[in-house]
Amino acid sequence: MHKIFVSDYDGTVTGKDFFSLLAERYLPANTPDYFARYGEGRISHFEAMAAYFAFAPADEQQLEALLTAGQPDPDLGASAALLRRAGWELWVVSAGSSWYVERVLSRAGVAATVYSNPGRLENGRGLVLEAPDPSSPYHSASEGVDKSAVVRQALRIADSVAFAGDGPLDLQPALLVRPRLRFARGFLAEALRTRGEGFQPFSRWSEIARELA
Ligand SMILES: [Mg+2]
Repeated sequence: MHKIFVSDYDGTVTGKDFFSLLAERYLPANTPDYFARYGEGRISHFEAMAAYFAFAPADEQQLEALLTAGQPDPDLGASAALLRRAGWELWVVSAGSSWYVERVLSRAGVAATVYSNPGRLENGRGLVLEAPDPSSPYHSASEGVDKSAVVRQALRIADSVAFAGDGPLDLQPALLVRPRLRFARGFLAEALRTRGEGFQPFSRWSEIARELA
């Protein structure tokens, strides 16, 4: 049986979003609230992320410290191995950047397919997000990666698909999977509750791995 677990990264695998850590630690006081601007529909999610990521420190050590401050689940590696043994393929979807997602996953020895926005570090320009590739089947002009399209693809090829997330962009993809395999916390949990949609609450990513395994 083919089983795929599609997981959001920021706030789901980690305790804190990369962009909010940047906002807390590296943004000058007079910087506009890009996330609020996105919320008001004035800029796209991709533009908001790109604006925050421009403040990422170019110094490797400072960046590593930032990735650790995101508090990835301490049992990430063991949990991913548990999922793998139980036959679950892991796909990680993120409207942030594969630059840091892949770094943290590989540091924990996690093998996963990552669907996210490529980025590169440039001196003086921070983490530069690359424009979404319009020829990708998962392309979204506003978010870079269309998480729902990724989940729909998983549903086409697998017998069982689970999804986990925490943010506004996770609502639509979460609704595509069965409530028993729909894991949520934070904003997403609240949004599902409001709609009367069933889900499994979680407080740490490793709980989901145990549940699925
Ligand atoms: Mg998230």
